[in-house]
Amino acid sequence: MTPYRGRFAPTPSGALHFGSLIAALASFLDARRAGGQWLLRIEDIDPPRCPPGAADTILRQLEAFGLHWDGPIRWQSDRNEAYAAALENLTSQGLAYPCSCSRKQWRDFTIYPGWCRHGVRDPGKPLAWRLRSDKGLRPVTWQDRLFGAQRFDPIELGDVVLKRKDDLWAYQLAVVVDDADQGITDVVRGFDLLDNTPWQRQLQHALGLAEPRYLHLPLIMNRDGQKLSKQNLAPALPVEEQAIRPLLHRALAALDQAPPDTLALAPAAEQLDWAIAQWDVARIRPEATRQASDADMATTHPP
Ligand code: GLU
Repeated sequence: MTPYRGRFAPTPSGALHFGSLIAALASFLDARRAGGQWLLRIEDIDPPRCPPGAADTILRQLEAFGLHWDGPIRWQSDRNEAYAAALENLTSQGLAYPCSCSRKQWRDFTIYPGWCRHGVRDPGKPLAWRLRSDKGLRPVTWQDRLFGAQRFDPIELGDVVLKRKDDLWAYQLAVVVDDADQGITDVVRGFDLLDNTPWQRQLQHALGLAEPRYLHLPLIMNRDGQKLSKQNLAPALPVEEQAIRPLLHRALAALDQAPPDTLALAPAAEQLDWAIAQWDVARIRPEATRQASDADMATTHPP
């Protein structure tokens, strides 16, 4: 069997919050429990969305929580050539095409109707590149480690953008190229990405890349029923040891690992040692969403 290799792949659009802690912690515990490696990849392909300093803040937050990664950090902003080669490969197979359409033009449709599949409608305009969801692997099926058997027809999800009109690489292409290049065997991430997986599976199939196992995690929601995110101002994780301890304990509880109360004020390293030894995916209730407690939210101020 290939040795386990997992990763945490944050977009540095801001500091980590309780929701991102859940993804970081679960992927870390899953890797360490399996005796595997845990890599860190900074998905900084969208500079306008990534304020300077956010990636550094993320690194400090991970270190403060004792979530130490293996090997060098992978920065997606260094990977232009690899993404370009992948797009070229897809294009040569007729699986990617340029598209001039604007969101406004297809506003009456829920997904892009594929108008440029057989030729660009308006060649004078800036072009995005899209995936032919109709020509790739269909249906896409996989066994999610928490949510069980999955089956999607990517046609219903649409021709996702691989490269944007402003020349920036899109997440779907970059994530697939790097997961394969880094030899990732296990993807552990939030439920919001479950329905992105079919495109990623289509891309892996088209590019002849290995298929990782997937474990999607319940999403942590705020009291208004929104996913915790930088956009809705989820508080940043602390970096002070005293604030970290109870928060790490709550994160283990949110992952249904039932940490003993006696661990609540223990140093992060001690809590993590306990959690690695006890980690059991089968304990996680397969719910798409979870409500954060007031305590989870009332933690901190930006570092
Ligand atoms: N960069 C993505 C995010 O921050 C996660 C990518 C992934 O885990 O596949 O939401």
